[in-house]
Amino acid sequence: MDNLIEQFQALLGPSGVLLGDDVTSRAAAVFGGDGSNPASAILRPRTTEDVSQIMKLCSAAGRRIVPWGGGTGLVKGQIAHDGELQLSLELMNRVENVDSQARTAVVQAGVTLQGVQEAADGADLFFPLDLGGRGTATIGGNISTNAGGNRVVRYGMARDNVLGIEAVLADGTIISSLNQMIKNNAGYDLKQIFIGTEGTLGVITRAVVRLREKPRSECTAMVALASFDNLIAFLKEIDGRLGGTLSAFEVLWNNYYTTVTNEDAYRAPMPQDYPYYILVEALGGDANDDQDRFERALMATMEDGLLADAVIAKSDSERADLWALRDAVMVFIEAGPCFSFDVSLRITDMEEYSNQVKTEIQAIWPEGNAYTFGHIGDGNVHFLVSVGDGSDDAHHKVEEIVYKNLTKYHGSVSAEHGVGIEKKPWLYISRSEEEVALMRRLKRAMDPDGILNPGKIFDV
Ligand SMILES: Cc1cc2nc3c(=O)[nH]c(=O)nc-3n(C[C@H](O)[C@H](O)[C@H](O)COP(=O)(O)OP(=O)(O)OC[C@H]3O[C@@H](n4cnc5c(N)ncnc54)[C@H](O)[C@@H]3O)c2cc1C
Repeated sequence: MDNLIEQFQALLGPSGVLLGDDVTSRAAAVFGGDGSNPASAILRPRTTEDVSQIMKLCSAAGRRIVPWGGGTGLVKGQIAHDGELQLSLELMNRVENVDSQARTAVVQAGVTLQGVQEAADGADLFFPLDLGGRGTATIGGNISTNAGGNRVVRYGMARDNVLGIEAVLADGTIISSLNQMIKNNAGYDLKQIFIGTEGTLGVITRAVVRLREKPRSECTAMVALASFDNLIAFLKEIDGRLGGTLSAFEVLWNNYYTTVTNEDAYRAPMPQDYPYYILVEALGGDANDDQDRFERALMATMEDGLLADAVIAKSDSERADLWALRDAVMVFIEAGPCFSFDVSLRITDMEEYSNQVKTEIQAIWPEGNAYTFGHIGDGNVHFLVSVGDGSDDAHHKVEEIVYKNLTKYHGSVSAEHGVGIEKKPWLYISRSEEEVALMRRLKRAMDPDGILNPGKIFDV
């Protein structure tokens, strides 16, 4: 056995180092993987000091290592290549402290997002970051991908909900920047180095997250609109009328809505012939009055002629039914080969851009479709593209259409999923040569031997 593995075993104990079948059997847990796991071992530290020792050993031996949270990343950033090590934070999974006065929590990187949400809830507080993979995705993964999700329009992305970070650098140095304050301008804000950098600059081991007051009301509706201009006007109008409580603005294009509501498992809350449907949600502070206020705001926009139709949830189950339509991506994934995309651009360019993408796809594959939906309140659109062909060649052609059309609008090839391996060839569309050169300089300065999550985001 490799001498380095023996050193890891001495450091972490036998259960801290997984080998053989225990490594390959993890492949299925990795989203977007090809079903294999070529990592030579999975290391499972219990403390930040363990992570530091691991990194020192890797650094001395020049061994490459890939941080791993819940494996739900959608751009293959967590995937290890032949002979690389995987560093799983799964045993560092405690919420260490919730301070209900300061409204902060100190959490270890391997706690699931849902675990953080539940800990906040237990203290009668609220951790607003939320996404479909919440039960498996870890807070370390969320921070390192700067995850977005459903409530960004109100509470921002992961970055906006993190106050402090403890991370371990490639050479094993521990940077304990567990700031507890919202304001701290004492020099560089070092936590930003680790947020959204996909494990290429350090391993996040602990974080201080910002908690909010728990909402006392939740109002949800689905509305239909006749045009994209109305949609833009409606966003401005409803945001203003709800006075800062708008927490979700999720748009379903007609082709997404129709396909989902044609399935027996889903109920169509309104006819299928409107071009756009929007799931609107407001989280407020007054359980008695907020519903009336919400309905009045919707009524006013209807009177302004912005809405063609509206359905307001009157119970938790009706609310869940509306959200189920938004979250029904598996309908498309299970129907056959399907490529998924996550891009962002200005809301005013979105209609033209998405029509162009669809037109170009159907010019090559007349039966193909780009089912469109997204967090439009954040300028974030998702496509689920089905062309009846799941080959790499088809994927590349669709990528070209989706990404190259962004150039004209100065959009981003990644709104919230990161770059990983999947979007690496397309990074140049959203970042200039100078920007990528600066990223490389940072990477070289912090990881001169290139051992930490190598080959992700860009080549050094
Ligand atoms: C059903 C579903 C819905 C989703 N919805 C959304 C959504 O709405 N918005 C959104 O943004 N994403 C979404 N995602 C994507 C995914 O959940 C996020 O990217 C998530 O943040 C990844 O967390 P993870 O713990 O699974 O990380 P992993 O997949 O394990 O890793 C992701 C990246 O982070 C790095 N990493 C992980 N842990 C650490 C650490 N402790 N230190 C340093 N680097 C680390 C990895 O090396 C890798 O580069 C969804 C995924 C699924 C499966």
